[in-house]
Amino acid sequence: RSFFSAIPAAPADPVFGIALAYKNDPVPEAQKVNLVVGAYRDSAGLPVVLPSVERAARLLSESETSSDGHHEYLPIDGLPAFRQGAAQVMFGDECMSLLAGRLYTTQAISGTGALRVCLDFVRRHLGERTVYYPQQTWPIHPNVCAEAGLPAKAYRYLATTGGTVRLDAEAMLADLTAAPEGSVILLHVCAHNPTGVDPTPAEWERIADVIAERRLLPFFDSAYQGFATGDLARDAHAVRAFARRGLEMFVAQSFAKNMGLYGERVGALHVVSNDPTGLDHMGQQLRRAIRSSYSNPPAYGARLAAAIFQDPALFAQWDEDIKLMSGRIAGLRQSLRSALEARQTPGDWSVITSQIGMFAYLGLSDAQCEVMMSKHHVYMAKNGRISVPGLNETNIAQVADAIHDVVT
Ligand code: PMP
Repeated sequence: RSFFSAIPAAPADPVFGIALAYKNDPVPEAQKVNLVVGAYRDSAGLPVVLPSVERAARLLSESETSSDGHHEYLPIDGLPAFRQGAAQVMFGDECMSLLAGRLYTTQAISGTGALRVCLDFVRRHLGERTVYYPQQTWPIHPNVCAEAGLPAKAYRYLATTGGTVRLDAEAMLADLTAAPEGSVILLHVCAHNPTGVDPTPAEWERIADVIAERRLLPFFDSAYQGFATGDLARDAHAVRAFARRGLEMFVAQSFAKNMGLYGERVGALHVVSNDPTGLDHMGQQLRRAIRSSYSNPPAYGARLAAAIFQDPALFAQWDEDIKLMSGRIAGLRQSLRSALEARQTPGDWSVITSQIGMFAYLGLSDAQCEVMMSKHHVYMAKNGRISVPGLNETNIAQVADAIHDVVT
């Protein structure tokens, strides 16, 4: 007899579950390819510590006698220099002065933690309201809503008819227009995961129009700032455009990818409010919730990020690191496209180079993805998405052969 016998099994995680299947595949390392997790890799397929982060780590270890060298608790809402710098990176100088007194930032357990703490807050203090997420999205989005006890619905995002892959702005706007007032609208800031298709600045204006007219509450998810264009400011365009229009919003910000700090869990939640008292109370309630959840955030990654934010030379190095990563990904896209075109694989593979960010959305079915893995040992998310930096000169032919096989 056990208290726990009635607990149902849970489905495997759509990303980490497949990463595990890759690991457990008994064929030799050289015969299998891991394109599952959205993590940057070097040309040998190995994880990378960014030069800016390496220098920040050296700075921190050299200052062991200063306030950075100990292991004390951070405040409940995190390291002040990190919070300030993270907000600056997201909003830029102009919006920062525009938002004076209307912005609250708390450090968060990376992007996922920011989403969760905020949706818990919404459920508890703003009541049950539906969260709308793009039909193609990071598979964890609906799960976070469910765990926070909020109903969630998809809005249409991608048009896949006619062999092209583009934003279906009309369908998206129609679905947002039909959403009840006060609904939370989840938006990817840039480098949309998994499709690599973002709205244009003009489309963002139309989205903002609907959000303002219909009194919807935008929730931006920023996991790939810098990966869309290589430029932090340009990639933050949507958030800044909304802020300039005076819209209230939430922003979940992750430094997992753009600083390569995945496991350090470095992120922030930003809240923009037009009611200073409401904002103040929200900060108090968030801190109260955090205190009873994980008490205070991890310190080391935030110190690394803050060191980069505060030192102009380190910041310039970070900027360069981001350009290098996004540039190398663009090169890999071209190589994969060329490999498929050389094989005359049926399909329009120009989408691989027109999409941006970390992923290529190949439009493969669940069954085709299954064959990619079971027959070809090429592991990928089942929504038809591959993580482009997992490609390299040694595996690109195997990947192209596998795609060719499953689509013909
Ligand atoms: N949002 C999106 C769209 C993502 O792709 C990711 C990372 N895969 C996250 C949020 C959160 O990542 P993390 O919690 O590691 O910052």
